[in-house]
Amino acid sequence: MSQLSRKVVIVTGSSIGIGAATIKEFAKNGFNVVINYLHNKEKAYALKEEVESKYNIEAIVIQADVSKEEDVINLVNEVQNKFKRIDCLVNNAGIAIDTTLEDKKVSDFQKILNTNVIGVFLMSKYVGKIMLNQKEGSIVNISSTNGIDTYYSYSMDYDASKAGVISLTHNFANLYAPIVKVNCIAPGWVSTDMNKELDEEYIKNECKNILLGRFALPEEIAKNIFYIAMDAPYINDTIIRVDGGVKRC
Ligand code: NAD
Repeated sequence: MSQLSRKVVIVTGSSIGIGAATIKEFAKNGFNVVINYLHNKEKAYALKEEVESKYNIEAIVIQADVSKEEDVINLVNEVQNKFKRIDCLVNNAGIAIDTTLEDKKVSDFQKILNTNVIGVFLMSKYVGKIMLNQKEGSIVNISSTNGIDTYYSYSMDYDASKAGVISLTHNFANLYAPIVKVNCIAPGWVSTDMNKELDEEYIKNECKNILLGRFALPEEIAKNIFYIAMDAPYINDTIIRVDGGVKRC
């Protein structure tokens, strides 16, 4: 297959964690991939090498802060110039800054909203334009069960941002229908760097409330992202929990 006829995915924040696993999942399925990183250049290029050699696809690496409009415009232009199409966008980049209420700063809250909400807004706005022009496309936003009904006071800013991602999902799904599908995955706990500070005792306790009894692997979230983006027929404007099941009694 010529590289230009391959489908193309952009995954934001994809040098590590769920983003990197998602890049591998799409590459395995024959996509050319756009790896976006903020700081982790080395890991982003290592991932490019890995997927290109393993799956015979083309990967490009682009540094961009998704919360900055200029960066997003440059990223989208670069992808369009290179591949001439964008079939799928995964809005994965996200941050959390967990503290007690006493220690929460407005500047941290704003940083979280800028990355987790404004980032999704900007990427969906500029990539959506291209998808509407090419008359097809699929967007998957990564929220969290924290954006639905799991409340931890130390992450109330993060929880609010992830509720915002759900709201943006509904708005863009309505705006872009019937040409572009917009869906949302809401993971529960996932074993990534985002949770590397948690101690073993805390993790053990949290696992007691998960029916499958453990945190998800990033690869498991990635498989669901690929399925909902590319395979799931007729599913649109939907929020899908991927949390292993919540213990209720
Ligand atoms: P991670 O910290 O391993 O990865 C997050 C990535 O986003 C990093 O590569 C980081 O550099 C990037 N990023 C941060 N700010 C950015 C910006 N402004 N521009 C571009 N990239 C930026 O975390 P993860 O667990 O892989 O998280 C991925 C997504 O999944 C996030 O949106 C997170 O909120 C969500 N999520 C994670 C969990 C979990 O338990 N790990 C649960 C639910 C939802």
